[in-house]
Amino acid sequence: MSRNIEPADFLSKPRKVVTICHVNPDGDAVGASMAIYHLLKQMKHQVQVIVPNDFPQFLKYLEATDKIIYFDRSEAHKQKGLTALEEAEAVFALDFNDLKRVGELQPLVEKSSAYKVMIDHHLQPQDFADFILSDTSACSTAELVFRFIEKNNWFTYLNQEVVDSIYMGILTDTGKFSHSITKDVHATVGKLIEAGADVVKANQEIYNSYSFGRVRFWGFCLGQKMRTIKGLRAAVLPLSIKEMHKYNVQRGDTEGLVNQPLSIKNVDVSVLLKEEQDKIKLSLRSKGDFSVNEMARTHFNGGGHSNASGGSLKMPLLEAVKKVESVLHLYEDLKVTNHKKK
Ligand code: 5GP
Ligand code: MN
Repeated sequence: MSRNIEPADFLSKPRKVVTICHVNPDGDAVGASMAIYHLLKQMKHQVQVIVPNDFPQFLKYLEATDKIIYFDRSEAHKQKGLTALEEAEAVFALDFNDLKRVGELQPLVEKSSAYKVMIDHHLQPQDFADFILSDTSACSTAELVFRFIEKNNWFTYLNQEVVDSIYMGILTDTGKFSHSITKDVHATVGKLIEAGADVVKANQEIYNSYSFGRVRFWGFCLGQKMRTIKGLRAAVLPLSIKEMHKYNVQRGDTEGLVNQPLSIKNVDVSVLLKEEQDKIKLSLRSKGDFSVNEMARTHFNGGGHSNASGGSLKMPLLEAVKKVESVLHLYEDLKVTNHKKK
């Protein structure tokens, strides 16, 4: 049942609200969730942030991340999550647009009769919400949360916690202001800084708090695992469970790794293949007009953005590498003979 009511009207009295985001939450998913949490708390709503699974420690410096429910963490978390979802009057779906992306939460959200708000910037949105703020040209969901606040004239709620959360989403989803950048993004960031966003802390916590092991592990990946593919403007980087064990890789240690091969002049597409227990998780990145979203959708059961997508393959790692290479060979645009204006 779809309800034709604006979020501001629905939220005109205290409500029980739950926020959810995609599996393997990134800085944008966490930032947008915490921004909505801190915004609605000030309006006297009861808010519970639920994430399908854990996310990297370096995103936990935001206020109140210790109150998050991690749906897969324990029976206690699961029960709390189930109750919160059952009782929710409103559900905010943040940084995803297809319910397949929320893992085990999917049937619960489908079953929920709560008023649903989707705020998202991925391509090809599904129509499961009562109110949809979807803009694929936005750099991040966090930017759209800011737009949502502006639209509703909720400026008085732009406190430290809200602006720090939004800033984290924008900073991470733009790869430190290197892609999806428009003058509007900078204008928004200007307003966040004016409202007190702590940009020094964000940079320190997210990018300058790595372990020695993580930096060493990246050295191993770039030195020994990354391969460019002969005849193609592409690189692959396969990682086995064994290698990740050997380097004691922690959640978040591979975040951003897939972007590294793109810093090479003649590499337009980069694919990271990470072995998991039951599948190979793929991360795809591209430069310029080449769409890895199309590639991920067509060949790897995934999707995302034009320049950043993900997917998976259910086969052994070596086979998956071969499969990825054969898919890359299907694209004329990636052939080195195809001279590009650069
Ligand atoms: P990442 O490579 O960082 O995991 O994901 C890059 C982008 O692709 C993100 O925007 C993420 O939401 C999206 N993405 C990652 N994995 C999948 C997937 O399996 N399916 C879909 N539809 N999108 C994905
Ligand atoms: Mn995002």
